[in-house]
Amino acid sequence: MLEVKGLYKSFGKLRVLNDVNLNVNKGEVVVIIGPSGSGKSTLLRCIKGLERYEKGEIFFNGNKLVEKDRSFRKMQQDIGLVFQHFNLFPHMTAIQNVMEGLVTVKKMERNRAEKIALELLKKVGLEDKRDEYPARLSGGQKQRVAIARALAMEPKLMLFDEPTSALDPELVGEVLNVIRDLAKEGMTMIVVTHEMGFAREIADNIVFMDKGVILEQGKVEDVFKNPRHERTKVFLEKIIA
Ligand code: ADP
Ligand code: MG
Repeated sequence: MLEVKGLYKSFGKLRVLNDVNLNVNKGEVVVIIGPSGSGKSTLLRCIKGLERYEKGEIFFNGNKLVEKDRSFRKMQQDIGLVFQHFNLFPHMTAIQNVMEGLVTVKKMERNRAEKIALELLKKVGLEDKRDEYPARLSGGQKQRVAIARALAMEPKLMLFDEPTSALDPELVGEVLNVIRDLAKEGMTMIVVTHEMGFAREIADNIVFMDKGVILEQGKVEDVFKNPRHERTKVFLEKIIA
């Protein structure tokens, strides 16, 4: 479904992605781990088409992602991205946040958009919060609204960028549950997370990134039990301890 080939990206003199190659098949869950600053967010932003890169190619369902192409926006719509910091529209209620893309991007009639949005709020367990503004929601609730909003666009691939790192510990579980359910339903996804137990549980493949390079890539047990690089070992020891 997704193929990233030889991706290079720099910010000024800083090389952030250094020959990144990644494949994600339909229905697969790929978890990316790695220290802060290793390029994980930048990689997701490149895949979502939010970031330019100097070299390399990204293919989505066999089509090359090219900014100038007419297919670009459609491909962008097919890829959902959920950020660490929710990025909800503060002046809109939960349901309005979920409806927004349907009405503005998909030009859907409001009644129909509202029905779909309500179904999605149900799915993430928030139908009773439909008319609350983000300021009155907990972090976990905000993140679940953000997930519902992304799902409204019927993405074929979901990207999660540390979806629980901004949450109080007791709120992490409710967001992970939603992501876990999506995985069970067969959603294809890439999840950047530091929740190692969760990573082990949902990942078909795990990727370890360090300094813009994918150092390891493979089945969960292989990477966790037999990391090939010293840097992976050190990282895993730190994060699991
Ligand atoms: P991660 O998500 O793994 O923590 P990022 O992809 O956010 O890493 O960042 C990788 C590196 O790129 C970091 O050194 C970061 O400071 C730098 N960086 C990220 N975004 C920008 C930007 N817009 N301008 C300049 N440098 C950036
Ligand atoms: Mg990041």
